[in-house]
Amino acid sequence: MSTPLIELKHIRKSYGGGDSPQVDVLRGVDLSIHAGEFVAIVGASGSGKSTLMNILGCLDRPTAGDYLFAGENVAHLDSDALAWLRREAFGFVFQGYHLIPSASAQENVEMPAIYAGISAAERHARARALLTRLGLADRTGNRPHQLSGGQQQRVSIARALMNGGHIILADEPTGALDSHSGAEVMRLLDELASQGHVVILITHDRDVAARANRIIEIRDGLIISDSADSPRHRPASADSATLQAVDLRQRLAEGAEHNGAWKAELLDAVQAAWRVMWINRFRTALTLLGIIIGVASVVV
Ligand code: ADP
Ligand code: MG
Repeated sequence: MSTPLIELKHIRKSYGGGDSPQVDVLRGVDLSIHAGEFVAIVGASGSGKSTLMNILGCLDRPTAGDYLFAGENVAHLDSDALAWLRREAFGFVFQGYHLIPSASAQENVEMPAIYAGISAAERHARARALLTRLGLADRTGNRPHQLSGGQQQRVSIARALMNGGHIILADEPTGALDSHSGAEVMRLLDELASQGHVVILITHDRDVAARANRIIEIRDGLIISDSADSPRHRPASADSATLQAVDLRQRLAEGAEHNGAWKAELLDAVQAAWRVMWINRFRTALTLLGIIIGVASVVV
């Protein structure tokens, strides 16, 4: 069997301790996910699903246990490699969309590419192509409040795909949607899984979870069932899966390597800051005006 893309070994997560009472949210989770899988993690509210997703997406660290990504222990990765993972390996989709209200659909989709230092022309082209692919070609200039819930969620999926989104982590993506838009979003995730993305879907809804190829049930911070253990489970096709794992491992090494130079990083940071100011140019202009008025009045 090939190396799993994601492997959790006895992951625990506790909050509190010290003055406040300690809460054990995850109490020893063991889990392997291979490239090409479409996995649903299902469980009641408060069972620890979002906590697990944050750990999977490297947004949070476990209290104990090991997380291996493509065979590499995430705890031993340097900050460049971790940043690369968050930015380029994972794509996040949230129940509440988390779009920037002042930016258009197109600008929202482009946002992750700004932080990856991709040129403006390439960014525009890629964002437009993604929005077109998700059926939003005529909505690229709309702000989030000018879009329906289903459309906003599709914008957030496009954003998740902007830097590749090899692994899509979706936390209750249909939670805020009516059944029609929810079904549309599920169809989209289905499609992404069949194109080779790893999709990890988190939900409290069994009907939604039933769309996945593998269903993992979590209760009180422990996995209580995993359909991959059942003899009827059919694993994802091995060829493309292995390829993708190898590719990601290589890119992890490369990404960490060429991110090492601090000069390039500084330039990236300045460019990113400039682009964000440019996207919010009205706000930037007002801030500048405020500074000019302030300095001028001091001088006068
Ligand atoms: P789910 O997503 O399955 O609804 P969560 O992972 O969000 O569950 O939360 C699981 C449990 O962990 C809940 O009881 C919640 O109150 C607790 N919890 C989550 N985050 C924190 C935190 N930062 N501090 C303390 N407790 C937390
Ligand atoms: Mg949750």
